[in-house]
Amino acid sequence: MTDAVAALAEIHARIAAAAVSAGRAADAVTLVAVSKTFDSAAIRPVLEAGQRVFGENRVQEAQAKWLALRDDYPDTELHLIGQLQSNKAREAVALFDAIHSVDRLSLARALAVEIAKQGKAPLLFVQVNTGEEAQKGGVMPRETGAFLTECRDLGLAIGGLMCIPPEDEAPALHFALLAELAQDHGLTRLSMGMSGDFETAVKLGATHVRVGSAIFGGRG
Ligand SMILES: *Cc1c(COP(=O)(O)O)cnc(C)c1O
Repeated sequence: MTDAVAALAEIHARIAAAAVSAGRAADAVTLVAVSKTFDSAAIRPVLEAGQRVFGENRVQEAQAKWLALRDDYPDTELHLIGQLQSNKAREAVALFDAIHSVDRLSLARALAVEIAKQGKAPLLFVQVNTGEEAQKGGVMPRETGAFLTECRDLGLAIGGLMCIPPEDEAPALHFALLAELAQDHGLTRLSMGMSGDFETAVKLGATHVRVGSAIFGGRG
């Protein structure tokens, strides 16, 4: 067993335990294994161990690795978790099964065009900038409702909300805020929680946790 395979099993167990302790089903949470910066040789054992949902943050890097990996593991689900430029919407819609970073109107427009053209509908999450940080993507919490309405007017089906809490703050308040916003707007999916805080996120209702370094190791 590689280190990553052992770590994967441990993370799955910790997610299930956190879910059960919160009164949720053990399988209520999808683990998105974040493989950004790791090469195919590092990813293959994790696929071999049965993991089928992976996250990447760059379109080009994902294409370079996953077109071949997916030939070998066709039931793999690929999630884009990083910021997306509107001019890459075509490639992103073609490659990814889910996009967690819908964060502005220009991108929503570009995605709507591509989804209609390609007849393909990735699961979409609106990223909310819960910490209102200038350097981070995402709509402001108070603008979430208006942005969701704009997405709906474009014909975009939004499946849930995503956040990345500020590094220097306790994540629980941010996860709770995201859960409240989702509930206010009738959304059932919550993409929140990373290597350092996924158990907290699961307790606060995460349906998708994005875990990288705790599985694959440090990114150096
Ligand atoms: C890299 C990344 C992750 C995974 O982070 P780890 O701390 O390595 O688990 C999760 N979400 C996003 C948006 C990322 O860019």
